[in-house]
Amino acid sequence: MSNQDNASWPTWLPIRSALADLKPYGAPQITDVTALNTNENPYQLPDVVVSQMLEALPKVLQNLNRYPDRDANALRSSLASYINETTSYKFSVANIWAANGSNEILQTLMLACGGRGALGFVPSYSVHPLIAKATGTSWISNDRDKNFDLDVDKAIQVIADKKPGITFITTPNNPTGTATSYEDLEKLAIAASQIEGLLIVDEAYSEFSEEKSAVNLISKYPNVVVVRTMSKAFAFAGARVGYAVCDEAVVNAMLVTRLPYHLSSTTQALALVALNNSKLLLAEVDALIAERNRVANELTKLGFEVSPSSANFLIFSGFAGDSKSVWKALVSDGVLVRDVGLDGYLRVTIGLPDENQQFLAAIASHRP
Ligand SMILES: *Cc1c(COP(=O)(O)O)cnc(C)c1O
Repeated sequence: MSNQDNASWPTWLPIRSALADLKPYGAPQITDVTALNTNENPYQLPDVVVSQMLEALPKVLQNLNRYPDRDANALRSSLASYINETTSYKFSVANIWAANGSNEILQTLMLACGGRGALGFVPSYSVHPLIAKATGTSWISNDRDKNFDLDVDKAIQVIADKKPGITFITTPNNPTGTATSYEDLEKLAIAASQIEGLLIVDEAYSEFSEEKSAVNLISKYPNVVVVRTMSKAFAFAGARVGYAVCDEAVVNAMLVTRLPYHLSSTTQALALVALNNSKLLLAEVDALIAERNRVANELTKLGFEVSPSSANFLIFSGFAGDSKSVWKALVSDGVLVRDVGLDGYLRVTIGLPDENQQFLAAIASHRP
């Protein structure tokens, strides 16, 4: 009902012509199924963290008559400390921007720096081209190789030829799980700097990966922007907190395109409590990685082909039938996975061990 066919836009509605053919992003939200479709962390927040959030709330609620800290300074400072635990370079508030999920970060960035267009390597996160269209940023796609790896030499050539203002790299990549090495990221940073373009590294799944983060490139290559989120490893998807780590100049550009008071007092306060408990919230990451490897093994034993993943999900192929019909059959069996629009593939998020068992039992009847 909320979705519109192109033909059904009323003539009185002056929707931008570039948007007339677009569909709203979103996976089906189905209740009463085991949801393994949006790469959430399946572990709920520990009671001690919930208690601390409840303690922080009264003061925040009393002050809801006031606008929030427009620049979210306390939260950005806490995010800088979190990043500094993992890198020798010391970032400060000036190097961090925070928003309602990393998607908002991406939109703010594209509004500020998308004038010369954006380049992405597909299959990848489909929200990148969607935000490009919504912000009037022209979009160029280039293919990954058949194993979903990035051909770096080819990528460098495309950057030099097309000279995009923004080059996107998602690592680990969604929906394939493929990680790009730090060495390759550095080569791409150089290629982008030679055409005075940004390299935006979308690291939504960084905490699940062994690869060195691109945050370590920023001091040498100020055109590198790392986009992170608390939605995945941090188990904080419902709160909507994402952030960028970057040179101060990029933050200053984002300040021009962010909406005033975009991040509510409540979000800022709850995120601060979450970051003070980062070790607790990230405690299940190792268990999820172990489960990911176990599920990959089980799928392989069943005869499926599984792409190597550095994230909290797996993409697999080799089932009997097409993606849509297998997806539907799994829903009937009470398991919701993701049809990512890649023919012959489905993506499954790693859930709790019994949820993964339920998935494995359901997919077994579609073995090759
Ligand atoms: C999930 C995801 C995001 C968006 O996360 P938010 O919830 O908006 O922070 C961004 N990029 C990639 C690659 C993702 O998979």
